[in-house]
Amino acid sequence: MSNTVHPPISFEAWFSGFHVMAGPCSVESREQIHQSAAFLSSRGVRLLRGGAFKPRTSPRSFQGLGEPGLRMLREAADAYGMLAVSEVMDVEAVPLVTSYVDVIQVGARNMQNFSLLKRLAKERKPVLLKRGLAATVDETLSAAEYILQGNPHVILCERGVRGFEPLTRNMLDLAGAALLCQMSTLPVIVDLSHATGRTDIVAPLAAACVALGVQGVMMEVHPRPAESVSDAAQAISFPLFDEILAGIEPYLQARNAVERAGGAQRAASA
Ligand code: PEP
Ligand code: MN
Repeated sequence: MSNTVHPPISFEAWFSGFHVMAGPCSVESREQIHQSAAFLSSRGVRLLRGGAFKPRTSPRSFQGLGEPGLRMLREAADAYGMLAVSEVMDVEAVPLVTSYVDVIQVGARNMQNFSLLKRLAKERKPVLLKRGLAATVDETLSAAEYILQGNPHVILCERGVRGFEPLTRNMLDLAGAALLCQMSTLPVIVDLSHATGRTDIVAPLAAACVALGVQGVMMEVHPRPAESVSDAAQAISFPLFDEILAGIEPYLQARNAVERAGGAQRAASA
């Protein structure tokens, strides 16, 4: 178990700026997660993701490294001053996962695992709650309420819903993300990797997310995408990640200008 004491992330910080959460689908090795952390932190990313307990469709697929994976994630995050984000799949694993991460992820397949949600209401660390595969906006907000009964730190995540379009893994519901922002006071982020299942349309969608006003995006990034043991098709290479960041920069500046103008307008009319 990790002995390090990690100060909880300031929840207020989620409401300013645009947060990029990135890292591999799965923690695969010490080298892989360190390379990811070194690269991402050099690009200003503070939230390092990496799965150690993987909810795979087939039991024959890689299930994650478990606790050793969590330890590698923690060490990489600490080495580069980042916050660690990883999924917890069941109630029994909550103490273990919570002892290693700064943000506890609830995956889409568990959005309505009410025992898990009730258990996470007893935690203080932020919970990243992913929208279920076929959950409505209202159902997502109701799931969040279970955690909010005791833990006010919930971050909502739109990650696409099951659709009929075979060209994307899921159907990204930007309208749903807009409604999550409008109907709750919680931070909302969009997972562009699981939403699309591909890498070539992440850049324009990231720009759309900036314009939409959500608090951030999640992307799966891998040092050697073709070697990724899970979700290789959506793994973003380091050079592509740089292109995506560069591509959203003008939109971030425009958003800041719009927010400043709005602030000035409110101050003038107060
Ligand atoms: C993940 O983010 O690692 C993941 C499994 O995503 P989802 O739960 O959205 O499918
Ligand atoms: Mn994945």
